[in-house]
This record gives sequence, C-alpha cells and structure tokens, in this order.
Amino acid sequence: MNSIIVRSAIVALLAAAVSVLIVSAAVPALGGMVDGTAILMCVLCPLATAWPASAFTFWQSDRLKQAHRELARTHAQLAAAHRRLAEKASRDDMTGMLNRESFFAALDRSRRKTDRGALLIIDADHFKKINDSFGHLTGDRALLEIAAAIARGVRSGDILGRIGGEEFGVFLVGATAKEAERVAERIRREVELIRFRPIDERTIPLTVSIGGANCAPDASVSDLMRAADKRLYQAKNGGRNLVIVDDGIAEAA
Ligand code: GH3
Ligand code: MG
Ligand code: MG
Repeated sequence: MNSIIVRSAIVALLAAAVSVLIVSAAVPALGGMVDGTAILMCVLCPLATAWPASAFTFWQSDRLKQAHRELARTHAQLAAAHRRLAEKASRDDMTGMLNRESFFAALDRSRRKTDRGALLIIDADHFKKINDSFGHLTGDRALLEIAAAIARGVRSGDILGRIGGEEFGVFLVGATAKEAERVAERIRREVELIRFRPIDERTIPLTVSIGGANCAPDASVSDLMRAADKRLYQAKNGGRNLVIVDDGIAEAA
C-alpha cells in the first residue's frame, strides 16, 4: 500500500510540474499573466486528479500481478499433481512395477527407438498351491518377494511390469539373446534363493519359469509376446524352474 501511495504521489508531482511548465510558457505567449493563484491551481488540479487516478491504476496493476503469480503457482501444483496421478495410474499397486497396459506401451516406445532387445515373460510356478496351502495373504507376500528378486536380477534401464496375477514381463533394452539368457538365468536363480518362511521355520520353495524372445528387426510387440509365451510354455512343460530364450522369433512363433 505504501509503495502505491509513493508511486502515485510521484506521478501526481510530475503532472503538477509539467502543468506549471506548460502554463508558465503558454499563458505569457498568449498575452496573459501567470500569478500565484494560477500557479497554485496548476499544482492543485493535477494533485487532486492524477494522485487518486494513478493510485487506483497502480492498485489494479498490483492486484493483477498478484493474481498472475497465484495462477502460475496453482498451474505448477496442478501439473505436479497430474504427473503424480499419471505415474500412479501406470503402476501396479502391489509391486510398484508398471501395470500391464503401461508395460506394453513402454515396450512399444522402446521398440520404436531401437530394434535391439529381448522380452522375458516370468511366471511363478505352482502359485495356486501356495495360495491354497497358506492363504492369499501369504501368496501376496510371496509375490512381493518374487517381484523384488526379479528387480534385483535386471539392469537399470530395463522395463519391468506385472502383466498378470503371478506373471511378470521384463524388456531388456538393447540385449542380445545371449545377454537375455544370462539375465533370465540370474532372475531364476534369485527367486530360487529366496528363503520364504511365512509361518514357521519351514522354508517354502519359490520358483519361476521364464520364456524369452529376442527382437527380430520387423517383429511387432505381439510377435515378440507370442514367441516369449511359447518359450514359457516349453519351460513349464520342461519341468518348471527353467529358462528358455530363443533368438528366432519366426521359428518360435
Ligand atoms: P503354473 O506353474 O502352471 O503357472 O501354475 P500356477 O498355479 O502358478 O498357475 P495357475 O494359472 O493355475 O494359477 C495362478 C495362481 O496365481 C492363481 C491365482 O489365484 C494366483 N494369483 C494371481 N494373482 C495373485 C495375487 O495377486 N495374489 C495372490 N495371492 N495370488 C494370485
Ligand atoms: Mg504360474
Ligand atoms: Mg500364470
């Protein structure tokens, strides 16, 4: 408020000074005489009009600036909330991994950037038995342990998702079939090493079967998925707790 009074006073004083200058120059040029009353009026009139008018203008302009700042702040808060919501909507609540839809969208984006990479589909073995024997809550804890083991097995930059109840997808960006096999084997081993003791000292074995497929240059995401799924099926039939990765999608599909 003080700054408005000061700024509008400066404007009013400038207006009064300009008014005195104009009257002092123009009135004698027109044959008139400038006396004390005229000078007083030259000062009072601008003070009486310019001061309130500019005070009002400054006040409005300050309010506008303030509203603008608040709008920008709200806009930033909304954008941050939107980012947080979008991030939350793309994740599986339980494991924090990408959900199925976001996993395939991320896979699709990665495939557009590069042809190189491999998809692993990881399925928990005989998981129904764990639920049936120990209950769903224990099953949930086992799933979390498996998800953590998968996360330990991959490299940073790889894409991780929970694509079904007890099924996970990993896209190994830029990996060759050999590297994919190594990572898949590491994940299989990490899960096998889990010491899951939900009730007493008894350890319940947890294992996964993994099917993998390496990207062929013109293979679509569904080709890749089909090929990896086929290898997963073979791993299940081969006795489970097994990794089968191939690099020939055409042959597998
Ligand atoms: P397989 O080795 O052939 O994969 O056998 P499986 O028992 O794992 O496969 P199946 O498809 O018969 O059963 C999957 C089970 O996974 C059944 C389902 O209740 C359980 N499951 C899926 N999602 C969840 C979950 O979020 N929590 C729990 N506790 N169980 C889940
Ligand atoms: Mg299963
Ligand atoms: Mg399954």
